[in-house]
Amino acid sequence: MFPAPQLNDMTELVAAAKKVASARHPVSFSGAGLSAESGIATFRDKNDNALWSKFNPAELASQDGFKANPELVIDWYNARRQTAAAAQPNAAHTTLGARKGWIHITQNVDTLLEAGGVSPENVLHLHGTLDEDHCNNQCGYSSKVNMLAPEGLKHCPRCDAYLRPSVVWFGEQLPENVFNQALHAVQQCDLLLVVGTSAQVMPAAGLIDIARENGAHIIVVNKENTPKTHSEDTVLIGSAATVLPQLFTS
Ligand SMILES: [Zn+2]
Repeated sequence: MFPAPQLNDMTELVAAAKKVASARHPVSFSGAGLSAESGIATFRDKNDNALWSKFNPAELASQDGFKANPELVIDWYNARRQTAAAAQPNAAHTTLGARKGWIHITQNVDTLLEAGGVSPENVLHLHGTLDEDHCNNQCGYSSKVNMLAPEGLKHCPRCDAYLRPSVVWFGEQLPENVFNQALHAVQQCDLLLVVGTSAQVMPAAGLIDIARENGAHIIVVNKENTPKTHSEDTVLIGSAATVLPQLFTS
């Protein structure tokens, strides 16, 4: 259970909204909390599809899990894809989508920021996306997935290895090119808006420190305070869909 939402200090909220409005190189960094109100279950949610509740995501979302039972892993991802395909962007996504000039770094594998109006080239998916497969043999082949009607386990047309979802599994490195772009963005930004993530997973958590060290102001929007919060940061407690529209008022 989350603690009861606190009412944010209006002075702090207004000051944060001014910082958002005046930022010249703003960047957002989001996690599961951004999409929670769109009905996207996280690994930690207990209300995930009951069919899959007996499986451990950490075992399914891994190369070992895929080797042990590739059909099971693909079926699980396809269930997640259909859930994601049915989800609608919430007020947080559309608020970010309405504001141009931002770069959005996200840990989310859904594409609700894009559905909410953000240009795909301005979204950096640190953990990949559900709407793509690539060759598990890393031959370079990749293909888009029909999220509403995903096919079962398939072979790579180039090398006959299995295709796998283009998401980062446990034990895997973040995609280097995407991470480098994210690194560049936080080094250049003057405002980093951290939304719906406890930001405790490295190396993503380090991006916040890098932004701060480079002089950016940090605004954290989360349902609960995070251990990463420094005294000079602004912390706004509440859901992303509630707080973001209040932040982007001007
Ligand atoms: Zn291949």
